[in-house]
Amino acid sequence: MTRRLAAGNWKMNGTMASLSEITALANAHPAPGVDILICPPATLLAEAARIAAGSAVMIGAQDCHPAAAGAHTGDISAPMLADAGARAVILGHSERRADHGETSALVAEKARAAHAAGLLAVICLGETLAEREAAQTLAVVAEQLRLSLPDTAGAANTVLAYEPVWAIGTGLTPSPAQIAEVHGVLRAHLADRLGAQEAGALRLLYGGSVKPANASEIFAIADVDGALVGGASLRADDFSPIIAALASA
Ligand code: PEP
Repeated sequence: MTRRLAAGNWKMNGTMASLSEITALANAHPAPGVDILICPPATLLAEAARIAAGSAVMIGAQDCHPAAAGAHTGDISAPMLADAGARAVILGHSERRADHGETSALVAEKARAAHAAGLLAVICLGETLAEREAAQTLAVVAEQLRLSLPDTAGAANTVLAYEPVWAIGTGLTPSPAQIAEVHGVLRAHLADRLGAQEAGALRLLYGGSVKPANASEIFAIADVDGALVGGASLRADDFSPIIAALASA
């Protein structure tokens, strides 16, 4: 059976003092069948990886440049992330698509670079509220999937996170039926692209206002293999019950 994944995205939050949250997660009892990933800001990666070494917690980054090295001031490459101890990288988060104009084609280039560096690519996609209200959700996510997934992608090196933009940081979540519908469509498109077996093994995460209070309901939905969590991943006391809910789903 596919291992589920509880992934935390700290975004632009956290200083050295926040590493105690990773210490707490690393020292917790292992959750059977669940992989745990925390993606702190780049400033904390190396120290977070040192703290998490040998534990059930993997450390990941929040973005990478598509090139391995070069004249790109302020950017960080996938091999550099791996060198700092990262094992995964979030790509195409809606905040990067919106704040930095990232296109799905660029996300695919970044994912290819992540794969070349041996990193797990956590590729995000999801519709805006206007797109949902215009009944374009399924078409939007299918197109994002088609363009964002590089030809190097497979179940071992890629995770997809369905994150409706209107659910991120808002406290709003889609209904279970809406999540199931999108995940079912994503799984079907993956099967067309990768074959049924590979598509079945590639983990599909839901992201958007996942909290301890709604985690069990979300993890009971078909085709949900875990979650990408923002706000509720910042404190071990909030993230631990989400991990536990996933372990018992
Ligand atoms: C996210 O940023 O990926 C996210 C899902 O945020 P939140 O859980 O805070 O909605």
